[in-house]
Amino acid sequence: MTNPSLLSSSALELARRVRAGELSAEALTRASLDAIAAENGALGAFLSVAGERALEVARGIDLRRERGEALGPLAGVPVGVKDVLATTDLPTTAASRILLRELGAVPDASRGYVSPYDATAVARLRAADAVIVGKCNLDELAMGSSSETSAFFPVRNPLDPSRTPGGSSGGSAVAVAAGMVPLSLGTDTGGSVRQPASLTGTVGFKPSYGRVSRYGLFAFASSLDQVGSFARDVRGAARLTEIVAGHDPLDATSLDAEVGDLVQACDGGLEGLRVGVPREAFAEGTEPEVEARVREALERMGARGARIVPISLPSTKHAIATYYVLATAEASSNLARYDGVRFGLRVHDGASPLGELYAETRGRGFGAEVKRRIILGTFVLSAGYYDAYYLRAQRARRLVCLDYARAFDEVDVVVSPTSPVVAFELGSRTSDPLAMYAADACTLPASLAGLPALSLPCGVAEPPGGGPKLPVGLQIVGPPRRDDLVLRAAAY
Ligand code: GLN
Repeated sequence: MTNPSLLSSSALELARRVRAGELSAEALTRASLDAIAAENGALGAFLSVAGERALEVARGIDLRRERGEALGPLAGVPVGVKDVLATTDLPTTAASRILLRELGAVPDASRGYVSPYDATAVARLRAADAVIVGKCNLDELAMGSSSETSAFFPVRNPLDPSRTPGGSSGGSAVAVAAGMVPLSLGTDTGGSVRQPASLTGTVGFKPSYGRVSRYGLFAFASSLDQVGSFARDVRGAARLTEIVAGHDPLDATSLDAEVGDLVQACDGGLEGLRVGVPREAFAEGTEPEVEARVREALERMGARGARIVPISLPSTKHAIATYYVLATAEASSNLARYDGVRFGLRVHDGASPLGELYAETRGRGFGAEVKRRIILGTFVLSAGYYDAYYLRAQRARRLVCLDYARAFDEVDVVVSPTSPVVAFELGSRTSDPLAMYAADACTLPASLAGLPALSLPCGVAEPPGGGPKLPVGLQIVGPPRRDDLVLRAAAY
């Protein structure tokens, strides 16, 4: 039987109880699997579930505790992992047909590619004695802001199932928001951890670029991709980050710098903290109630000792255009590996020439949004257009970085809404890519600058057309490698 209060405790408290022998890892894992069985049909958060295998891992942890052996810091805590991180015991599909072993009448995630190795983040979770209960649904290859481009089924927001939980890590966000797991991993290239955290009322943290290894992460845009954490509270996200972060020789862009005690950083308080509020934070299109909740949060921060400082980040207005040139350029190159030859899907009749194997496989394997990005990315990189688009976007990216560098001379963190809007209706933006891309307006600048950034729930707002109130997220961005400062500001 599911014990809802059990899974709604904080991840730190659950790990403490398992380590103290007050709660068995098996009971906790079973509660998580029961919750997934009860709710996943309606919400679509998981693509595959570890079931018996997860229980076996949990029993192994209980046995080691009984023998008096030391347990890891996440002992027995059930964790969901975005299905774009490689796992040896469950398929990895990136929610794309391109990673299926065959195309059935209905795409079936259980027929997905199985990796011969674990992603570094996954290996570190296992080493910390976390229990991986399943792989979470997403936008195909992490491209999207609503988790609707999954080749399998869309993810639904538990607070209103007619609405999106955001994306692309929508499954990971919903797994936490609906109480299926206390923690999950997502990835964030332009906002895919923070934006779904905002839309589901969870905490989502994207650490500094390079903080968590990308080894075993199916690449989208390598200069932006970063593994991030979802939790119900800031300390849970801090603990999960601490565990998966740290230098990894298998990722050439991995930061070779101390991670530090991120949970302890949460105790720093707000006294004396300088909080910058960019003039551009409440751009056109921001729902008035979203702005109101964020301004109230700023008042609360001020009342607790923070100094609120108006600032300006003038180049951030170019972030959407800049990001969608650079990210698609990198994606068009990264996705060349899905060719029907090396791994994943192969569509071929055995007789036609090789070129047709590529065309058939990629034509049938990729969905419409992924194809749009490959075409756009190939275009901006092509001879004759490179200078006008790719090179120009690189320069604009530099200007965004310089804006932040100047701001961080004056302030410790920068605050804004995470998303200009609350959760929108499923289907309302799928036919308008530009409207979908606009959902990333607030999260893209920190991605372009590689900065640590977190989304924290800061109240609820009525959606524009009426209906039950929905969560609003506060985004906190910190200077390069100051993950600790972001967590300190968020734990106020
Ligand atoms: N929504 C953005 C995009 O579609 C960001 C996705 C992400 O962070 N993975 O590219």
